[in-house]
Amino acid sequence: MSVLYILGIYVFIICSFIFIMLFGPNEMFKGTIIEKIHWFLTIGARQYLLQLYKYIFGKEFNTENKIFKAIYGFRHRFIQLFYLSISSGGIVLFFYTALSRLPNRYLGPIHFFIMPVVIGFIYVSFYIACVSDPGFITKENVDKICKHFKYDHILYSERTCKTCQFNKPARSKHCSTCGHCVAKSDHHCSWINNCVGYLNFRWFLTFLISNIIISFYGCYLSFYIMKDKAHVMGIDNGYAFNRYTHQYEEIHLKQLFLIMINEEPILCALFLFLGASAFVVIGFAGYQSYLSIVAGMTTNELAKWGRLEGRLDNGETFITKTYVGDQITEEGKKIQQQQEEKKDGIRNRKGNTSNEKSNMNEEEKKNKSSALDMDEYYDGMIKNGYRYTTISSFEDVQNHYNYGIFKNFKEIFFPNEDIF
Ligand SMILES: [Zn+2]
Ligand SMILES: [Zn+2]
Repeated sequence: MSVLYILGIYVFIICSFIFIMLFGPNEMFKGTIIEKIHWFLTIGARQYLLQLYKYIFGKEFNTENKIFKAIYGFRHRFIQLFYLSISSGGIVLFFYTALSRLPNRYLGPIHFFIMPVVIGFIYVSFYIACVSDPGFITKENVDKICKHFKYDHILYSERTCKTCQFNKPARSKHCSTCGHCVAKSDHHCSWINNCVGYLNFRWFLTFLISNIIISFYGCYLSFYIMKDKAHVMGIDNGYAFNRYTHQYEEIHLKQLFLIMINEEPILCALFLFLGASAFVVIGFAGYQSYLSIVAGMTTNELAKWGRLEGRLDNGETFITKTYVGDQITEEGKKIQQQQEEKKDGIRNRKGNTSNEKSNMNEEEKKNKSSALDMDEYYDGMIKNGYRYTTISSFEDVQNHYNYGIFKNFKEIFFPNEDIF
């Protein structure tokens, strides 16, 4: 029985680790032990190690050290290496124990062709996910990206990235690990050591799918190699010959399983590990697909929506604006005109018509109006083609970036690469 316990603990630890590394940064685990362990594994452990070094040797560790930087630097490859070692280790173990037993009565020679394809698929998809451009924003492409991703004036308004020194397009986020602003940023993934964004979300999903496929395929192969072994041992038909009583006795599934743990410990371990990790990855891939394709939001935006809901629940309100310039009626134009005149009248009285203000170009005007100063804008006001609305309840808020399942799907798998 002790082998079973050791196996169980081993599978549990590795699957928990995978779960924490996948879900740790997620908003739904904010403030929980999952988030804390993730922080410890990605940031905390390094900080403590550096402190320990200083304590023992009395001086700071040279973090500019090339080897340290490559393995455990800020954009470290630790989790990437972990993924490579665990996947390659599993494949080597499988070949070592099972390759010579193929084909057998359940698995045909076709598997000699399928195996390299499935294995190649995980490495190629891993490589592409690691090196693909997530949609880094540069001074050259920022204008085109800003045009493509419109501000909703709820989650995103005109803002400047302090590090990159340019206008932040809607849906983008500055990644401090990569050192760039990323278009339609989802999250920074430590497994691929790369950001997941507008251009490579599809490669990220492909990588997850390749892992689900190899896990199930590995389970399938291990199961039928063990079944073949059970057949050779004469215990696969539910009965075994007892050489002491000289009678056939019934074998239960549990007994069969225990016999296999003794006979095939490596295949059993692979079977359990692959099965458990497949469900963790399916959960994560399903969650990511639901969020992006059905709900039309990124992981980053999910956190933003959560914070916004909290603020509104606390009684805060804010003003948003919607472009209605193309649908303003004659009557609306009149109202707008009256409002403008009223506003100008107030400015004139205040003597607030400096040349600086009247000389503002279109871009500056846009920036100014994005501040949405509560005193200057009010509910129902129409100005410069925008209608201003007060939002006081989360039910009034609409996700303008959810275009429906088909369009969301198209945007993820066929992004517009011309804007980069
Ligand atoms: Zn930036
Ligand atoms: Zn990043």
